[in-house]
Amino acid sequence: MNAHTFPAVEFDAAIIGKLSQSGPRYTSYPTADRFRPDFGYGQFLEAVAGLRMRRNRRPLSLYIHIPFCDTICYYCGCNKIVTKDHGKAATYLGYLKQEIDMQGRLFAGTGTIEQLHFGGGTPTYLSDRQMGDLMEHLHANFDFAPDQQGEYSIEIDPRTVSAERVHSLRAQGFNRISLGVQDFDPEVQKAVNRIQPEAETRAVMDAARDAGFRSISIDLIYGLPKQSLASMEQTLDKVIAADPDRIALYNYAHLPHLFKPQRRIAEADLPTPEVKLELLALSIRRLCAAGYVYIGMDHFAKPDDELAVAQRQGLLQRNFQGYSTRAEADLISCGVSAISAVGATYSQNEKTLDAYYEKLDEGRLPVARGIKLDTDDLLRRIVIQKLMCNFELSMSSIEQAYPIRFPLYFAAELEKLKAFEEDGLLVVDPEWITVTPRGRLLIRNICMVFDRYLGLPRADGPQPLRYSKTI
Ligand code: SF4
Repeated sequence: MNAHTFPAVEFDAAIIGKLSQSGPRYTSYPTADRFRPDFGYGQFLEAVAGLRMRRNRRPLSLYIHIPFCDTICYYCGCNKIVTKDHGKAATYLGYLKQEIDMQGRLFAGTGTIEQLHFGGGTPTYLSDRQMGDLMEHLHANFDFAPDQQGEYSIEIDPRTVSAERVHSLRAQGFNRISLGVQDFDPEVQKAVNRIQPEAETRAVMDAARDAGFRSISIDLIYGLPKQSLASMEQTLDKVIAADPDRIALYNYAHLPHLFKPQRRIAEADLPTPEVKLELLALSIRRLCAAGYVYIGMDHFAKPDDELAVAQRQGLLQRNFQGYSTRAEADLISCGVSAISAVGATYSQNEKTLDAYYEKLDEGRLPVARGIKLDTDDLLRRIVIQKLMCNFELSMSSIEQAYPIRFPLYFAAELEKLKAFEEDGLLVVDPEWITVTPRGRLLIRNICMVFDRYLGLPRADGPQPLRYSKTI
């Protein structure tokens, strides 16, 4: 990619219709459904010991998972616990702090936290006091880079915070905020059980600007019940007027066999696949015309936002929060179901509160499963990362980093790419694989060619369809 231009994106309904299929989002490779139950606490400790042996001083990234929500949004596919009993959060916090203590001791002296992300559930389910206490605890256990240098972000449900609370979050150390909006249309909001007046969202954004948050992001979803081109047009008008720095536009994946709350969505209210594609096309057209840059997958940003800058510099990477500006950071994740990425491993915590608490009661980190990547995994991970983040791949740069001849090692994959090349989605020359603007929306399909695990049986037997549609 030319260092001064942004990747354009071209919408081609015919090709998208032809190629749309279920596939991973590649927030990790191998994907989480390949993690193994024989990877546990011991293997995680080995990975940390490996970092220490290499005297690793890479930056660290920290993810904190708060699983609770007050009410259920029908579209939700997250791992969350819906309860009005806030006492449960107090118990959870006690255990979470115990895990943070243990991780802090393990990683002491290995690096500085340059990135912190609070996700959920609803992180602001915690009270202001609880959040302050938790942030103090984190600072007592880890070295944080100064505010100017670090990216410290929190997901906000605007229904749960006042302007005062937003100021308090800034004072507690957060400098980036992301707001769940999904859609401003009242009918759509009713159909998904998430009533959130536009004025409420705008008030939170105004407070965030006032408080000095450096980046404000809005999450939207297309494909929700009751959405139409007309309603989407109005929502986009409102979003553009609100002027966020980043916009995430997610595809609603209706998988009621996997996610129970989705059974409360009337299928007749869902837009048809054709309308859904038009909703996507409209959104891309409007956001790009308003000056946003297409980053990739579901993300748009202003040209001077750090994500867009990192992409121009080739420093963008993907992790469990989507796109990220910190290449090479090891990710320590705390909380129920949270996934860490340390050295050449991934590891996931226990998914239920009971199992999570039980392991911590035994004095062990609550690792439930994970995977140690072999050389082939690492190689494919870097190929998928580069394609996802830069839409291009220098084959010789891979040959310099790994002892392979790219055209030989990936002969079968290059053969499969020919069909995409014929459809005008990418160009392969002796040096580069370059995804064209037409291929960018189908980047997941292209990356799937390099995924060795797709189609292989899993150790724990056949599973229901788990992946969302690629577009
Ligand atoms: S979408 Fe977010 S706020 Fe709604 S139920 Fe799911 S996790 Fe909770």
